[in-house]
Amino acid sequence: MRKIIFATGNKDKMAEIRMILADLGAEVLSQKEAGITVDVVEDGATFEENALIKATEIAKIVRNMPEHKGAVVLADDSGLEIDYLGGEPGIYSARYMGEGTSYDIKNRELLSRLDGVSDEERTARFVCAIAAAFPDGATEVVRGTMEGIIGHEIAGENGFGYDPIFYLPEYGCTSAALPPEKKNELSHRGEGLKKIRKILEERAEII
Ligand code: IMP
Repeated sequence: MRKIIFATGNKDKMAEIRMILADLGAEVLSQKEAGITVDVVEDGATFEENALIKATEIAKIVRNMPEHKGAVVLADDSGLEIDYLGGEPGIYSARYMGEGTSYDIKNRELLSRLDGVSDEERTARFVCAIAAAFPDGATEVVRGTMEGIIGHEIAGENGFGYDPIFYLPEYGCTSAALPPEKKNELSHRGEGLKKIRKILEERAEII
């Protein structure tokens, strides 16, 4: 395997991806580094569908770029599922209450929607689907999860998004209070990346 292009513009995601895929011996490029500026519309009904849409759309562009011959395209889609809210915000996590709304406001709104709800009913998980589009047209998709509960207050200075309300009972803190290396080790994205790395390793000889 020579080259992996990851369909994201997010620097933090790229750092994590590079760390987890480092020992594959492949060159790992972000979409931008690969010279692709297209923004794919994610109109799937599941995390897996959205990740596959992104990976296959970007792969179509990559196939017309001779400099990226043989590259594997990876894409992810992630979000928070709260069981008491029927899985909301789910695939709409980034768009919940509007893209421009701050996470402080989004997090406060979710806490108020769970006001008075017992800990047993506050179960939630972060989900991350990662899709791979191979040069021969084949695709694969995997899912990583991190289970927790929605806390009762905003807490923690690390992380991003919904981390300040995502409480991990076994660590006694939110994912925003974990050191970043620890969160990467436990996270839905970390798990998804490790699964996709295994698939890439298995396919290495035929790429
Ligand atoms: P996307 O995968 O870049 O579309 O992001 C989905 C959204 O899910 C993010 O904007 C966050 O709102 C949320 N999200 C995904 N992963 C995490 C995480 O690790 N911590 C906090 N929020 C997350």
